[in-house]
Order: sequence, then structure tokens, then C-alpha cells
Amino acid sequence: MVGQHDENLLSDMLPVYYTRLFPQNIFCRWLSCGSSPQPLANRELSFTLADDVYLRYLTICNQKEFQTLLQKKCPYKLDIGAVYNTKPSIARHDSVVLARELVFDIDLTDYDEVRTCCQEAKVCEKCWKFMVIACEIIDKSLREDFGFQSILWVFSGRRGVHCWVSDYEARTLDGPGRGAVADYLCLIFGGDNQTKKVHLGSENMHSSIRRALEIIDKYFLELLQDQEFLSTENRLKAFLKLIPDETLRSQVEKKLEKMPESSVDRWKTFLNLYESFFRENGSAVRKMKYLVEEIKIQYCYPRLDVNVTKGFNHLLKSPFSIHPKTGKVCVVFKPGNAKTMKLEDVPTIYSLLDDSTPESAQHQANMRTAVKNFQEVVFSLEKAEALRRKNDHNISLDF
Ligand SMILES: [Zn+2]
Repeated sequence: MVGQHDENLLSDMLPVYYTRLFPQNIFCRWLSCGSSPQPLANRELSFTLADDVYLRYLTICNQKEFQTLLQKKCPYKLDIGAVYNTKPSIARHDSVVLARELVFDIDLTDYDEVRTCCQEAKVCEKCWKFMVIACEIIDKSLREDFGFQSILWVFSGRRGVHCWVSDYEARTLDGPGRGAVADYLCLIFGGDNQTKKVHLGSENMHSSIRRALEIIDKYFLELLQDQEFLSTENRLKAFLKLIPDETLRSQVEKKLEKMPESSVDRWKTFLNLYESFFRENGSAVRKMKYLVEEIKIQYCYPRLDVNVTKGFNHLLKSPFSIHPKTGKVCVVFKPGNAKTMKLEDVPTIYSLLDDSTPESAQHQANMRTAVKNFQEVVFSLEKAEALRRKNDHNISLDF
């Protein structure tokens, strides 16, 4: 049954998975921490059942209730929502959201404009590199620019990643605050009709953009080779549209068209042309000061679904859910390990529950690592929460 996926088996396998393998205890501890100062019971969970029945505003008080709910409903999809001031329910319209992890959703389908190896739901080792870059850039920024520490990275089960920030300051961030973080991290703007989507201006570059570019530079040539951004006629055309100056554009066009199709060679030739044009035209090319950087960002920088980050009420798939279309586990991984992560090594519900599959042993080991990664984040979150409560208590005594 290598790589086989049969959705019909899920209804038999999921109850076993939830009982034996889903890290219920650590999951409830993670949610409890993230719910404080409100109780776990004020947190919304939502289930999608086998027949696509959608249950919102489910709540649990503890692990035992969670286990019972899982066994009773056997959800095909398990999503996590916000924490309310009261126990949320479908009938209550006056509930107010008090906390919610700051979340990021990055999906390879948003890269379809630039990735050439796969489209839509497909994903391979080559395009996974876009996710590697995204994890590294977002994780660094969250830690260094915002000072966040409780950051959980989760494979979304098919073609993307989710990031959950559980720090108190992140959880209690209001709408405009979330919008500001999303806007800060977003450098690519415009829909299908806009060709040039990155504009860095001509002032000094912000240090976070410089840092992002350093990360992109580690992978850029590799990606250029994998994706052949500049090889075919159409791709070359799209690339030329990114050059705002007509004279430079036509110089580049003439030269690249005559060259062999290798994107790496074409890119190097473009760089030479750009540099000599820049030297000769000096101040006249102010608007193209960061053209090379803008192009790299347009091809490689993370494409965030900003609405997910900005909203409080956006439900997001839980860590350790099973993706119903692939059978893969939404494993927790360390952002630094994204580059060595192989998609075929992600455990599936089938390989975990069927010892006779050849990849079973490896997948079981990978599942244990994923649970350990999850534990590490939750333990440090619990420590940080204990410290915060102690400090809050001391401050209140001082008054
Ligand atoms: Zn691919």
C-alpha cells in the first residue's frame, strides 16, 4: 500500500489514530495556555464529519471530554478557532473574541504564478523550497522584529504550512495590530493583472528586507535552476515586464532572446547589463535602484494569505489533523529543519497504523519526532505563561 490513499478507510482508521497517536494531552495543554486568562472551555473547535457535515462552536473542558468528543464524532477535519469571553455557541451572538493565536497560512497554490514544476494541488521537492524560504523569513522576523518566542510550525497536510504564534502579546493582539503585522510581512502586492508586484522605492532598505534577501540569496540560484524562471518565451516575457525602464528592457530582451534557455546564464547576463546600465545612467535610474532585489522578492518571498492573519475568526486546521485528501499527518516541524524535510517522509495515517508498509518504521519515528517538536514548543510556552502570571501578580501587589 505504498503511497496509497483511500478515503473510505478513514472512518475505520481515524478512531484508532485519535486514541493511539493523536497527542491529546499536549494538544489540550497547548490550547489551555493559549486560552488563558479564559478557560479552555471558551475556545471554539470545529469538526468536519465524513459526510461534509460541519460542526462549529464545539467546546471541551479537559482532555477527557476531548477524547470523548473525538470518539463520538470522528472528525475528518479538525479546526481551531478563537477564545471567547463566554462558552461560545451557535445560539449566542453576543460572544466577544478575547484571544487568538496570531496565525499565518502559506500555500503553494499562491505561488502558481512563479512556480513552474507543479500547479494547483501538486507539490514536489522543487517547489517545497519556496516553503523553506518562507519558514525561514517569517520565523526570523517574528523572533527578531517582534520578539515572539512561542512559534509553532505545522505542515498543512498537502501543499503548505501554518504558523501559530502563542505569545500572550500575539494572542491578545487586536484587529489593527494583526493587520499591521501582516502588512509589515507582506511585500508582494497586486492581483493577476499586475505584473510588477514589488516596489522597494529608492530610500535605504529596511533591515528586515535586507535579512529576507540574505535568506533568499542562499537559495536563489538553486531555485532559478529548478524552476527555470527565465527559460521559455512566456516566462521571459513575464520577466521583461518587471523592468520598468524601456531602454534597459529592450537591451535585455535582445540579448537574452539570442541566448540558450538556461535561466541561470540568462540571469547572470541580465545582472551584467543592469550593472553597466546603472553605471552609465547614474541618477536617472533611481527608480530601479533595487530592481534586482525586487525581482528576487517577486520570485521567492513568502506569499501570505493575509486575510487569515488579519482575522480573529478564521478557523485553521489543527496540528496533527489528518489531511482528508492525502492521509498525511499535519506534523509539527522545526523551522530550521524545513529544508531537510522530505514530503514522502511525512507520516500518513496508513503507514502509521499498518506495520506491514515498507515506510512504516520510518514514519513512526518521524511521528515521534513531530510530537517531540510539539512538546518543546508547549513546554516553553507553559514556562513563559507561568512567568507572565507571576509578574502580573507582583505588579498588582506593588499597587
Ligand atoms: Zn513542484
